[in-house]
Amino acid sequence: MASFLEQKFGLKGKVALVTGSSKGLGLAMARALAQSGADVIVNGRDAASLAPVVKELASYGVKATAIAADLGRRADVERLIGEAIAWQGHLDILVNNAGIIRRAPAVSHTDADWDEVLNVNLNGVFTACRAAGKHMLARGSGKIINTASLLSFFGGFTVPGYAASKGGVGQLTKALSNEWAGQGVQVNAIAPGYMRTDNTAALQADAGRSKEILSRIPAGRWGEPADLEGTIVFLASSASDYLTGQVLAVDGGWCGR
Ligand code: NAP
Repeated sequence: MASFLEQKFGLKGKVALVTGSSKGLGLAMARALAQSGADVIVNGRDAASLAPVVKELASYGVKATAIAADLGRRADVERLIGEAIAWQGHLDILVNNAGIIRRAPAVSHTDADWDEVLNVNLNGVFTACRAAGKHMLARGSGKIINTASLLSFFGGFTVPGYAASKGGVGQLTKALSNEWAGQGVQVNAIAPGYMRTDNTAALQADAGRSKEILSRIPAGRWGEPADLEGTIVFLASSASDYLTGQVLAVDGGWCGR
């Protein structure tokens, strides 16, 4: 008989797609899902950088594959979800993680940067949720986990497009949860705090900002990608079946301050 942990948190037989999983937070979440038994599809724009990730995930004894697609292009997102469902005939877990940031004061924030950030971080998430949600609703079950941000709650500084996109991700998470909670599909978001990845390279390199950020984190350190492992497995598993519409901050206590 399966142990309590396997029953509640085990993901054997589930198929998960993690967008933006060639590196950073997406890679850490893809690893955690595979190590919990899920078959995993990784994604990014570049097939070559996904190949070693597929190899690593398969080493955990699960099936793994890669689908290259640009989340900033609606047709690509629809193809991605279609191919993800076709891979094993079902998709149980969708992690909308791919995201970009462009830093510039609002008055010099270009149309190109605004459009790119909104397309990848918000429009791509909606298109993916709509396509995967349709499939999950027809099956009566599914887990969608979006990657939000502390800037889903706060405005940030010189990242207006990013803050707008992540605010939108938080609201979209609640809107979809309201529609789908009664039909077996839970929609939640993780709002990571300040995590050490390429996305925050500029902040980490700025000694003044880095010190200021660190001084406000009660845990006393920046987050590491592995800090999301437990949360993603919890939100992807049956342990969280009555938890939906939440934007859960994993931030070393930053929001509580
Ligand atoms: P990262 O290290 O820069 O990784 C970003 C990932 O997204 C990469 O796998 C990248 O793959 C993929 N990606 C970027 N643009 C894409 C596109 N158009 N289509 C498909 N994939 C794309 O960043 P990260 O820190 O892990 O960020 C992951 C998510 O967490 C983002 O949504 C970010 O906004 C959010 N977040 C991060 C932090 C933090 O402190 N790091 C905090 C809050 C929220 P390719 O480049 O290979 O395409």
